[in-house]
Amino acid sequence: MPETRRPTIPAAEEILGGYFPVLDHGFVALVDYMGGDSDVERAARVSYGAGTRRKSATRGLIRYLRRHRHTTPSEMVEFKFHCAMPMFVARQWIRHRTASVNEYSARYSLLPLLFYRPERGQVETQSATNKQGRDGGVEDVVYREAVGRWERIRAEAGDGYSWLIAEDIAREIARIDLPLSTYTQWYWKIDLHNLLHFLLLRADPHAQWEIREYAKVMAGAVRRVAPLTFEAWMDYQLLGSALSRGELEAIRQLLEVSGDGGLRAKEGATLSVGELAELELAPREIRELAAKLAGPTEVPDFELDLSKMRTAEDVEREIARAVPVHDTR
Ligand SMILES: Cc1cc2nc3c(=O)[nH]c(=O)nc-3n(C[C@H](O)[C@H](O)[C@H](O)COP(=O)(O)OP(=O)(O)OC[C@H]3O[C@@H](n4cnc5c(N)ncnc54)[C@H](O)[C@@H]3O)c2cc1C
Repeated sequence: MPETRRPTIPAAEEILGGYFPVLDHGFVALVDYMGGDSDVERAARVSYGAGTRRKSATRGLIRYLRRHRHTTPSEMVEFKFHCAMPMFVARQWIRHRTASVNEYSARYSLLPLLFYRPERGQVETQSATNKQGRDGGVEDVVYREAVGRWERIRAEAGDGYSWLIAEDIAREIARIDLPLSTYTQWYWKIDLHNLLHFLLLRADPHAQWEIREYAKVMAGAVRRVAPLTFEAWMDYQLLGSALSRGELEAIRQLLEVSGDGGLRAKEGATLSVGELAELELAPREIRELAAKLAGPTEVPDFELDLSKMRTAEDVEREIARAVPVHDTR
């Protein structure tokens, strides 16, 4: 094999084609990538690519681009993933329109009968404060009963599917009653700019825990392919925050620029909830501002655990075992 002249990144090569387990039967694998931080820089400078610049210069430029939302240079870097996820996760994921997707066809192929079973810690009660969230554990007996009910529904659905297939009913019809917990798979290709937008929304604590587990692995891949961009994204976007006019005005009333160009608190300055409301901050915005100032409850590092990485063959064998045996074509 001739040596490639394409830019490669040792940390990315280390995980290329490796399958990282997610949930009970899912995975994320980086199957290909194009470019990295230096390609963001080259695109921004529209350079010939000759010579290597100091890392600090590249870092400075990449941080500047991200701060000022000069995004097209990061569209020059591409990621191709192979992922398997329960259908309800796929349904959230597919809303991101800037990726190229090719999903496993359940019209053409038999579906492996693999279903997501949430672990004990993920089965929580409905959150009282967030209608799209969960909050608070459940009794063991409730979890056991939930698992029992899921198992019965899945056994019935899987049995129905296998029976229809055995009766030579078309796959596109046989699959219609499989539950949303059934795993599907796709190839998903996206550029770095749009991947970071996806991760901003889906690695965020407001996203459902299950899709966040996928986002964590993909963020780990970004960290390896484009570490400087990843660092800037963490600093300015994931762990940073935009401020509204009202929020900025509140901060202006509390802080001022000191003689040496730093910042100092204005003597005796405070703002009551009523005064914040006068700045046209709604009660919810005031709570959100407090949360921004309190800072994140956890700071993820998105480091991938390479000891968990599996081979494609290994994963393929496991999935093939879950396909109904009536595949005669
Ligand atoms: C926590 C959370 C809860 C959600 N709840 C719901 C819900 O209850 N119901 C629901 O239906 N959805 C829900 N969504 C999905 C959400 O509304 C978005 O559809 C999804 O997150 C994709 O975001 P996006 O459009 O920014 O991303 P992408 O589709 O990846 O697009 C990236 C960016 O490209 C641009 N873009 C792409 N396509 C267009 C276009 N056609 N026109 C203009 N600009 C475009 C936009 O700037 C966009 O931000 C939820 C998402 C999250 C993260």
